[in-house]
Amino acid sequence: MLNTVSEIPDKTRSQFRVTGEIPVPVLINWLTLVAAPILTFFAWRSFDQGDPFTSVWLTAFAVLFASNALLYVLVGNETLHRRSFISVSTVLFTYIAVHAVEDGSAIIWLFAYPPVVFYISEARVGVATCLIGIVGIVLLFSPLADQFLDLPYSTNFRVTMVVALAFEMITCYILDQSRRRSKLGLLALASEFEFAAKHDALTGLANRREALAQLESEYERYLRNGRQFAVLLADIDLFKSINDTYGHHVGDDLIVLVGKTLLDQCRKVDTTARWGGEEYLVLLPETAADEAMHLANRIREAIAENTVMVGHKPVACTASIGVASISGSESIDKLLQRADEALYRAKSLGRDRVCAHQDEALAPLSQPS
Ligand code: GH3
Ligand code: MG
Ligand code: MG
Repeated sequence: MLNTVSEIPDKTRSQFRVTGEIPVPVLINWLTLVAAPILTFFAWRSFDQGDPFTSVWLTAFAVLFASNALLYVLVGNETLHRRSFISVSTVLFTYIAVHAVEDGSAIIWLFAYPPVVFYISEARVGVATCLIGIVGIVLLFSPLADQFLDLPYSTNFRVTMVVALAFEMITCYILDQSRRRSKLGLLALASEFEFAAKHDALTGLANRREALAQLESEYERYLRNGRQFAVLLADIDLFKSINDTYGHHVGDDLIVLVGKTLLDQCRKVDTTARWGGEEYLVLLPETAADEAMHLANRIREAIAENTVMVGHKPVACTASIGVASISGSESIDKLLQRADEALYRAKSLGRDRVCAHQDEALAPLSQPS
């Protein structure tokens, strides 16, 4: 689970998008759609006022923004799209400030930079670019720059501009942190809900719905590549009498213990689910009937060995297991029905045993001693 704001990686930013949030590429393209005509307008004004040099530069920036958007549409590289946008914007704002475009008034466009850069990039990129920006402006407004450049900015304007821009940058940083924290909270909540929807609250195993979903996808794989899979249906023996004798909480502890035993005995690729009250389903991908029988017996033995303590007294339980492996074009329902019939057979033969369905053409392997 994600714990800190910085743990939302920039690379996977689009995967972590929260509903309602504007995707970065969409925002950049909208900004481009607005910026290109504005730049063209000011390019035309500069030309009209007899400044073809600025006119060419502003037109070039409009073309660069538009090309970046077009390249994204053609190639779809989000990182390149974002980095190019930030680079072109940075050069544009530097040009506007240094060349005092529009008699120096265009420098107020700099206030558009911090919110955009914080939104479209990682927090550290936002902080770094803002720091470089404010240092750059301070240097540009310093007496040192006046020795090389003839800037029209008054002292009052310089002081107000630097203070106001620094204030805006800090505000943007605080708001951005708050936005990222809320996003992180929502993502954590979503992953908790997702876990709760797929898992059983008592044992933490997959629940019946998740087991059916896994069965469906394994079945699809089987239809595609013919790789056989098997299911085990395990049911704790005479569980009602355990509840009646020791109480419901001991029963709950045993349900958890059996679930843990199943997890310990199964492979990572297997799905272990709580199918019902004291009933479990194990889905064994790429497993033939005889291998499934072997594993089921190992599970049965492990369940019988484990105990929960009631005071100083160890309480154990046994389980019966039905085994069925997919065959031919039978449906999932049919497979589950065969596993259930095998379980019923294990119960009627005396419990604490493993039975395959008769169609598996396998005799039960080891029986309790
Ligand atoms: P069998 O060997 O034939 O399976 O006998 P059984 O007693 O295990 O079967 P039965 O279906 O008669 O009883 C199952 C019991 O499991 C009844 C129910 O109260 C209990 N049970 C179901 N869910 C839970 C649970 O979450 N916690 C506890 N403690 N008991 C549960
Ligand atoms: Mg039972
Ligand atoms: Mg039962």
